[in-house]
Amino acid sequence: MGFHSCAKGEEDMISLPSKDFFDTRIEEFVISSEKVAHVQIGNSAEHALLVLTKTGYAAIPVLDSKYRFQGLINAQMITDSILGMNHIEYERLPEIRVQDIMNKEIPVIHIEERFQKALDLVINQNFLCVVDDEGMFRGILTRRVILKHLKKLIYQLRNS
Ligand code: AMP
Repeated sequence: MGFHSCAKGEEDMISLPSKDFFDTRIEEFVISSEKVAHVQIGNSAEHALLVLTKTGYAAIPVLDSKYRFQGLINAQMITDSILGMNHIEYERLPEIRVQDIMNKEIPVIHIEERFQKALDLVINQNFLCVVDDEGMFRGILTRRVILKHLKKLIYQLRNS
């Protein structure tokens, strides 16, 4: 892993991470599924709100009973689902299922992917859900972890 310097004309331009940096496998940066708070598709919106509130996470993955990734849920999706004309209908929370209000249109990343792909995707996502060939949920890759790694490399470059 490292950087190469790219020259343009006579001037040395900014050095870029070298190819092996972009080729680094994401696996070692993934927060594994056992450490990730999640809910299941059949759980109630009330349960999901409890998990979100207690963990303090902005959004958490939704899995099926076989641990396959299905989508994401956040507090806004839950409050949206109980928004009445004049008030929030909290009493409906136990009846609403996570699968009916979650976001299913989430880009996922394969566990065997490389850093380059992850960098492209985390521009628009705070964290990425990581899956394997069977669609099993393997964990998450956060923007924070990716930025930390990038920062380390940039510091190495400055000190070299
Ligand atoms: P962080 O990089 O720690 O700020 O996390 C960014 C986002 O990733 C959080 O707001 C959560 O939505 C998600 N996240 C991070 N760690 C976990 C975890 N252990 N379980 C569930 N979601 C997480």
